[in-house]
Amino acid sequence: MDGSGASGRRADLAIKGGRILSIGRLPAAAATETIDARGLVVAPGFIDVHTHADAIARSPGAENFVRMGVTSIVAGNCGSSALDVGDALTEIKQAGTAINFATLVGHNTVRRAVMGNANRAPTVSELAKMKSLVWKALADGAVGFSSGLEYVPGTYARAPEILELARIAANSGGLYASHMRNEGNELEAAIEETIRIGAEAMCRVEISHLKVDSPSRWGASGAALALIDDARKRGVDVAADQYAYTAASSTLGIRFPSWVLEGDQAAVVARLSDPATWERIKAEMRTLLAQRGFKDLAFSVVASYGADPTFNGLSLKQIAAKQQGSDSLDAQMEAARQMMIHGGASMVYHLMSDDDVDRIMKHPQVAIASDSSVLTPGDGVPHPRGYGNTVRVLAEYVRKRHIISLEEAVRKMTSLPAEHFRFTGRAC
Ligand SMILES: [Zn+2]
Repeated sequence: MDGSGASGRRADLAIKGGRILSIGRLPAAAATETIDARGLVVAPGFIDVHTHADAIARSPGAENFVRMGVTSIVAGNCGSSALDVGDALTEIKQAGTAINFATLVGHNTVRRAVMGNANRAPTVSELAKMKSLVWKALADGAVGFSSGLEYVPGTYARAPEILELARIAANSGGLYASHMRNEGNELEAAIEETIRIGAEAMCRVEISHLKVDSPSRWGASGAALALIDDARKRGVDVAADQYAYTAASSTLGIRFPSWVLEGDQAAVVARLSDPATWERIKAEMRTLLAQRGFKDLAFSVVASYGADPTFNGLSLKQIAAKQQGSDSLDAQMEAARQMMIHGGASMVYHLMSDDDVDRIMKHPQVAIASDSSVLTPGDGVPHPRGYGNTVRVLAEYVRKRHIISLEEAVRKMTSLPAEHFRFTGRAC
């Protein structure tokens, strides 16, 4: 199966120096090592264009990726990357990673370096500094620019700032990848903003981990995909990626109004510790939950909480019951408040519908990507996507539920992301 989406064929495959030499009938070929793959499927190594494996130099084996067939990854997503991409790539090269590595440069990283976690527009000179940092990262080898507009400080940026920076990436041949401002109650507006930036910057666009993350909006994937199709018809080269689960993974902080997270940890703790401010925060959180169609925080499960690992694997509802003897929404918010004061947590959020995940997977421009970091087995209770994303696509979505064909699944993990990211000599 060559990754193009064409039907698989029976053939021999010769490899020399780590590269495919020829494919076909090679009865007379001699090799130092022969693998009998009869009854199995041979495919190009999978390409995972949405990862957070920025720390790969510390675990160069990248075992969780290798074990799910991934041989090339892109890090620096959701606005978060190394600030000095050149240094990071040198370190990674020296570490000798098991898989191919590319990175984007992140807007949040660049913005924080220039203006901290300030909740305002940049000055002219701050924007100029950010532009030069993005330009340098691309010159040093970044393959594009990413945003994480649901996170601090990216969430404080308006579209013109992102556009200016995406333009710099586009001028160097890079693409613009976005963890959009909203994936639920304002999903369509967020997609329109992303596409408009791509169109005006004349930049290829990758919508990261496309999903509908609010029960009140379940079914909106149809409208979301239609916006992508319309933009493509107008000539905007927009594609997307997704992971094959109905649960997401993110920070605990993402559940709080973004103004609460401005500044450093001391500033956040001060807001959360002031009774009047906390009442205001709770009121906003209640409104946010209601808009998104949640009745409480039971959908929020702890993946990793440094201050008390016994919370790992428990929902905020369970933690509230255990800690405060009540599982009311108020007690759940109190549990979340205390966890934020003690350094926050990494979370798994159960918030998508199967119908939306299926519909998004059937779209021909949506690649498969894990959204994972390099993981250490036994560490916390992480989202399973970091170990099983590609495997789940093949087992659940191809073999069991027939949502897409095997050829299409392989294409979504190989040639589709390779073409959009302009990776030559990879996939088919
Ligand atoms: Zn993201």
